[in-house]
Amino acid sequence: MRKPIIAGNWKMNNNIAQTKQLIADLKPLVADAKCDVVVCAPYTSLAAAVEATKGSNIKVGAENVHWAEKGAYTGEITADMLLELGVEYVIIGHSERRQYFGETDETVNLRVKTALAKGLKVILCVGELLNEREAGITPEVVRRQTKIALTGVTHEDLDNIVIAYEPVWAIGTGKTATAQDANDTIKIIRDCLKEMYCEKCGEKVRIQYGGSMKPANAAELMAMPEIDGGLIGGASLKAEDFSKIVNY
Ligand code: PEP
Repeated sequence: MRKPIIAGNWKMNNNIAQTKQLIADLKPLVADAKCDVVVCAPYTSLAAAVEATKGSNIKVGAENVHWAEKGAYTGEITADMLLELGVEYVIIGHSERRQYFGETDETVNLRVKTALAKGLKVILCVGELLNEREAGITPEVVRRQTKIALTGVTHEDLDNIVIAYEPVWAIGTGKTATAQDANDTIKIIRDCLKEMYCEKCGEKVRIQYGGSMKPANAAELMAMPEIDGGLIGGASLKAEDFSKIVNY
């Protein structure tokens, strides 16, 4: 059985004071969660998030990481810098990174390999654009993204990988994939993992759905057999909404 994992992606929201407040509000609301709970915060709020979540069941993640040990990469952050703060998870390959910051399948792969080698847990995002869905190539797109992102990643490393299937047209738009569509595409990703690794390997990896997930649709999505959690943007910014999803 795969333990569900619900992660919030705060994006470029929540300064230090807001981070402390949100986590203080969240802690009692998610204390009895049956799933893993993660909040992914902007770099400048990570230390405050780690401090505020101490002694609770909430884990902290970053929203990106660079692949190099150090060097001339202005504006980037290394895995060691995140680990030094007590960060456990990192989102890699979010569609906003791909769309606005030139992230490619190849750079996603570099980031994934370094993050895993350093001991971070990775939330790897894949998902098709609207025109790709309309052209009927969603399976090819998610298979390509998954295969390239995981090139050179070992069977053992899979224990530290969560995949977030996020149809790009559903992110921040209020449009949710139907539970059945999300389940079907996640099955395609899982089958791809089984081809790349082994039957058991594909079965053990947790695959989340992300894209306008909210209290009103969380239970239906989470009831699907292939959906093992959610990556939540907008609704993770309010303790009440996020906790309702966590306690779906
Ligand atoms: C996201 O950014 O990963 C996301 C799913 O956003 P939203 O929930 O706002 O659609």
